[in-house]
Amino acid sequence: MKILFSRFFEGGAYPSVTEDRPCLLGEARVDGGGFLRILETHLGLTGRYPPPAVRAAALVPLLEKQKGFWSASVREAPLQVAARLLAWREELAMQGWTGQGASPRLKELAAVTADFPQAFPGPSDRLRAVLEALPDHAVPFTEVELFGRRESLPLLWRCLLDTLRAKGVTITAGTYPKVAGRGDLKACLDRPFAPKGDGTLQLLRSPGPMDAAEQVAAWLAALGDDLEGTVIIGADAILDEALHRFHLPTLGAAGEPSDNSLLQILPLLVECAWQPPDPGKVLELLSLPVTPVPPFLAASLADCLSTWPAVGSDLWNSTLADRLATLSEKDDRERLKERLEAIFASPVKRGSAYPAAELQNRLLLLESWAHGRSRNVEDPTDWHVLFQQCENFRRLIEVSGKRGFPEQLLRRLLEQAAEDLPVASRRPSCAGLTYIGHPGALLGPARRTVWWNFTTAAVAIPRVFPVSPGERRFLRNVGVELPEAGALLEAEAVAWRLPFTQTTETLILVSPQTGPAGGESFPHPFWDEILASVPRKPALACLTVPGILSKQALKTVRKKVEALPAKRLDWSLPRQATLPERTESPTSIDTLIRCPFRYVVQYAGRTWPGRTAALPAEETLLGDLVHFLVAEFLKSGKRTRKKEDWEALARQLFDEQAPRLAAPFFLPGGEIWRTKAQQALAVALKAIGSLRQELEGFETVHLEEEIAGKAFGGAFAGTPDVALDQPPAIIDLKWGGQSSRSQSLRRGTATQLASYAFLLKQARRLEELPPAAYLILQTGRVLTNVPEAFPGAICLEGPSLEATWKGLEKAVGERRGKIGNRLVQALGTPEEPPPPTEDQLDEAGMLHLHPRCEWCAFGRLCGLAYGG
Ligand code: SF4
Repeated sequence: MKILFSRFFEGGAYPSVTEDRPCLLGEARVDGGGFLRILETHLGLTGRYPPPAVRAAALVPLLEKQKGFWSASVREAPLQVAARLLAWREELAMQGWTGQGASPRLKELAAVTADFPQAFPGPSDRLRAVLEALPDHAVPFTEVELFGRRESLPLLWRCLLDTLRAKGVTITAGTYPKVAGRGDLKACLDRPFAPKGDGTLQLLRSPGPMDAAEQVAAWLAALGDDLEGTVIIGADAILDEALHRFHLPTLGAAGEPSDNSLLQILPLLVECAWQPPDPGKVLELLSLPVTPVPPFLAASLADCLSTWPAVGSDLWNSTLADRLATLSEKDDRERLKERLEAIFASPVKRGSAYPAAELQNRLLLLESWAHGRSRNVEDPTDWHVLFQQCENFRRLIEVSGKRGFPEQLLRRLLEQAAEDLPVASRRPSCAGLTYIGHPGALLGPARRTVWWNFTTAAVAIPRVFPVSPGERRFLRNVGVELPEAGALLEAEAVAWRLPFTQTTETLILVSPQTGPAGGESFPHPFWDEILASVPRKPALACLTVPGILSKQALKTVRKKVEALPAKRLDWSLPRQATLPERTESPTSIDTLIRCPFRYVVQYAGRTWPGRTAALPAEETLLGDLVHFLVAEFLKSGKRTRKKEDWEALARQLFDEQAPRLAAPFFLPGGEIWRTKAQQALAVALKAIGSLRQELEGFETVHLEEEIAGKAFGGAFAGTPDVALDQPPAIIDLKWGGQSSRSQSLRRGTATQLASYAFLLKQARRLEELPPAAYLILQTGRVLTNVPEAFPGAICLEGPSLEATWKGLEKAVGERRGKIGNRLVQALGTPEEPPPPTEDQLDEAGMLHLHPRCEWCAFGRLCGLAYGG
């Protein structure tokens, strides 16, 4: 067996089969990790080695116990400090350091990590174990071909090669064939270089990565051959998606960790235990494609959160009970109920340490659900990654030795548990194109090479142990030679030349002007080497292209462009169509007058705007909460007449109800909204105090009770916030909009008040419409046009409610008449005459209401959204 070894082979190598062989039998191309695994397997040294995150977490208790140069910083960022110290130890150990101390720093580092390797070995410890075991064993291969300079390898690797040679293994230096490039590609490494712009070497500076991916895929598709000998270096999911769109073979490039939505479950389950739970996180959990909350329940609970963003609101509890009741099997119901109670129990007070026992419970819950759920899936790969994440997290908790975790540390541990997990590819790896991870893995002639991400950002800057001159001298004396960062970069730069020397026809260097996050992006440092060899800098312009130059004419397919639908006023109902009988409400009647088209689509066609799961905005939630609390206050205060009792009751209501309804106001950062809500409630109660005379007869107050009646030739019903009986009156609570409500009273367009007043008149068999008023909660103002009925209210002179109701009846009659003749009008569309810009009651007593197209979701149906 022959080993081809290079630290650049992690993402594969090209060509995958050497020219004189038909297949890969008896040959392995490996990086350091792969080489080590082969030796460990042969020597019987295999085991489950801890991931770097677990090693770092295991070091934290030692760092906290022992004083050292890390002590000040370990208090702030324990895991990061532990990871950095381990990286330094690894770097030193790879160069032969065995704990010799010249300075206090090296002594402290040696002391704190002295016993660490036994339980948590790193790569250097594993390599030492191999070196110790090798002399007593035969070697399973006969030849090692090393690509890259031997001197650039760390000391332990060089020792390994020496040991292998001593055991009879042939160690050769890998060679690269001489390749006959042409044109600019051949000349670019010479000095001086006079570019011709012949297309053999191109620096693609498209605006962004998406555009670059489209360019590369279009170019490859236009080549029209089998893509034999075409190599892509360092591809990512963006390029893979573009290749897929052009029906080209995809590369199986790794996607983002977030592509595996299963990995989001654990952090969200952990979040749910904080009291109060963050409704945003709960919504995320409910919105995942697969979660321990089954879809039939998750959608309903997500809906609850969009009304009252809190776990445990009355709405949440009743929805949960209703949906569980739909399960016919009692056992299933009980099992699911138990699981949900465990998920949404929130025993951990925010600001306190999160108990390790609670974390273990949640891990068990997740694992037991995942075991059952993954049994029937076709491809369990993603599930294996989830189990690995759980396992990592469990080990992190255990090795940290803590019984409770502050929030910040817990977040970091959750991140670390998911670090280094295999990331699934969005697209499969197909035959056709060859993908390699690093330019150093280009071992032989490639016909075309695309160096994806030829950018500065893609270059990993080596982080070396910041050794002092004294420490360096001491280490050198004990045989530990630490490389400079410059030397490491130099070794890397040798690999950067390979795409230029191993490509025969075309090399495309993809360096978009902006990165994936939109920031400015610059070409790879190797481009500076090309720049340096061009004496006439303007000549370089012919190498820098916004789109790939190609001899093959790209085929342009012109698609027929369909005209956008034009907006249209008049629509006809089909002959056989009849509008279903329904109970109208003040809102549906308002819609009918503003735009019959919208009314028909929505109420007869039962078409509703699409919805996405979202929490209400703070301002909306504030209004809803105060509205709810005022209504509850009025309900609870039926027997209370003293103002002082009202205040105590209001405080009690707020403390009891608000956290169950508006959790965001009780999360860190929500204080300002909590204060606003309390202030708004106080203002609203003061206003209610001014209406005490009307509310004196509490027994006759009806709160949010539906009043059903008849109007417009059919059933009509509405639910006023407050309906009074002695004397009769209507009060409608509104969060804000004082000026528009005032205007509606002045102009006689307060259709909602008129509708409620009409319903109360009908229900109580009154002679005339009772008075009505708006109570604006935000300002505490009462608005009416019947001031004698509401002492202290702002009086707005305008047409009576009777006139408004009559105008409403007229307008409904007019709209219904047209619909009866099968004509449905989209009243926001006409240019001549234009729709009313404001609501008004005209001199003939007809009500005209502005269509409010800006609030309508059906603009694409009537055509208004397309303009024209
Ligand atoms: S956009 Fe305007 S005209 Fe069109 S349906 Fe909606 S309200 Fe009617």
